Amino acid sequence: MKKKLLSMALVATMAFSMFAACSSSEKKEDDNTLVMATNATFPPYEYVEGSEIVGIDVEIANAIADKLGMELQIENVEFDSIIAGVASDKYDMGMSGMTVTEERKQSINFSDTYATAKQVIIVPEGSAIQSVDDLSENTMIGVQQGTTGALYAADDYGETAVTNFKSGTDAVQALVAGKVDCVIIDNEPAKAYVESNSGLKILDTEYVTEEYAICIAKGNDELLEKVNAALKELKADGTVDSIVNKYITAE
Ligand code: GLN
Repeated sequence: MKKKLLSMALVATMAFSMFAACSSSEKKEDDNTLVMATNATFPPYEYVEGSEIVGIDVEIANAIADKLGMELQIENVEFDSIIAGVASDKYDMGMSGMTVTEERKQSINFSDTYATAKQVIIVPEGSAIQSVDDLSENTMIGVQQGTTGALYAADDYGETAVTNFKSGTDAVQALVAGKVDCVIIDNEPAKAYVESNSGLKILDTEYVTEEYAICIAKGNDELLEKVNAALKELKADGTVDSIVNKYITAE
C-alpha cells in the first residue's frame, strides 16, 4: 500500500516539478502566516500527492505553526533557491530535508536538528560499482544541484565526474536511462526512488551521515527561538516520532 502510494506520489511529483518553477512566490502576507519554502521532490519528507504537498517536513511544520498560533503557507521552489529566499526574507523559513553545513551557516541560521540522514549511492542492479570504494573520477555521478550530495561528490571525485540535475527525480531518471553510473542522494528519498523504479538498488555502504534542520534568516532570532521551543515540545511529547513513523518503517 505504502509502496504504491509512494510511486504514485513520485509520478505526481515529476509532473508537478515541471511547472513548480513557474509558481509565483508570494511574499509573507501577514504576521500570522508562516511561509515555508520547500522543494517537494523529496519523499518522504516533501512530495506532491494529488494537488497537495505532503510529507514529514510538512507535518512537522504544521505542528510548529499550530504551536505558534500561525497559519502555514508552503512555497514549492527549486532546492537551491531556498537559502537565498530565506536570507532575503522572501520566506520565513526553509524546510526541505536540509542538511546543516558550516557553509550554509554563513548565510542563514539553523534550528535544532530534527532528523538524521545518510547520503547513499543508487546504482543499477548488476552494476560494476559495488561499494563507495569503486567510485572514482571516471564515474559518472548524478546528483541534485545544490545539495550536500552534489558538494561531497565534487569534492571527492572532481566537478567533471558530477552531473547536476534540477531534482532527485531527474537524476534518477538519468540513471534509469543509463546516462549516469550512479546517483548520490539522501537515504529515505533513495528508498522511495528505488521502490518506484525497477532495476535499481542502494549500495550497502553509506557515504556521509548528516542532520536535517530548518533554516531561518540571520537576525530573525525571535522566530528561531519560537521554532526551537516548539520543536523541543514536539520532540518531547512524541509528535515528531509519530510523524516520522507514519512515513518511515524502522529497519
Ligand atoms: N539533505 C540534502 C541537502 O541538504 C538534500 C536535500 C534535498 O534535496 N531536499 O543538501
